[in-house]
Amino acid sequence: MAAEVDLCIVGGGPAGMVAGLLFARAGLRVTVLEKHADFLRDFRGDTVHPSTLRIFSDLGLLDRLLARPHDKVRTIGATVGGRQLAFADLSAFDPRWNFIAMMPQWEFLDFVAEEARRFPGFELIMEAEATGLVMAADRVAGVRYRDCAGIEHALTARLVIASDGRRSVLRGAAALRVRDLGAPIDVFWFRIPKVRTGDNRSGGIFEPGRIIAMIDRGDYWQCA
Ligand SMILES: Cc1cc2nc3c(=O)[nH]c(=O)nc-3n(C[C@H](O)[C@H](O)[C@H](O)COP(=O)(O)OP(=O)(O)OC[C@H]3O[C@@H](n4cnc5c(N)ncnc54)[C@H](O)[C@@H]3O)c2cc1C
Repeated sequence: MAAEVDLCIVGGGPAGMVAGLLFARAGLRVTVLEKHADFLRDFRGDTVHPSTLRIFSDLGLLDRLLARPHDKVRTIGATVGGRQLAFADLSAFDPRWNFIAMMPQWEFLDFVAEEARRFPGFELIMEAEATGLVMAADRVAGVRYRDCAGIEHALTARLVIASDGRRSVLRGAAALRVRDLGAPIDVFWFRIPKVRTGDNRSGGIFEPGRIIAMIDRGDYWQCA
């Protein structure tokens, strides 16, 4: 049976969207299935790190990425036991990526989707929730998904990438084992309104047994 696409990627997060862009750029027919109607997940990654900026530079996309609204953070400080300390200084890196770009994850994902759509083989289907795998004997041959109208589909693909996040349905369907790294802490996220400042003041406060991370999102602190 000929597969409808070369690659079906489940999950339009950073992993799935960047994989989709790279494979579409390589000339493959790629379909990304994303269960949400948009990328607007608040309290997600704001920090696009130098390593990521460098990859986008290699792809020739850095200037266009940085045309999206963002703040640049070159040094990171924190208050440790009541003392203000500088603990990260990125200024020695290549000037093209010697900063953290503070950019909401939805902005980043929207950018990747826009770039990927330039390639004829790329398709992103929103509100498409994967429900299981299409099997051909003992081989994964595609993905079953439900569209926004509740209609079930089976999309056949030469390769399936399950990038559907930490509660991956496809990981379960493929009986892949989870390696539990045993995270020792939980993080509670909340926001505090503040006045917008000219520079981005992201940082943190460290006290015995307690840490607060504070991401400067303009008119509020995103705190963890
Ligand atoms: C509160 C918070 C703050 C963070 N801050 C930062 C930060 O500042 N900088 C940073 O680099 N990282 C940050 N991270 C980590 C970063 O968000 C994750 O590493 C990243 O999102 C993981 O990407 P992913 O594509 O693997 O998974 P996800 O981002 O989880 O994407 C999975 C996608 O799959 C979709 N999906 C799930 N199930 C299905 C299904 N059945 N069918 C179709 N689609 C499905 C989901 O809707 C989602 O869009 C933060 C994470 C959290 C939770």
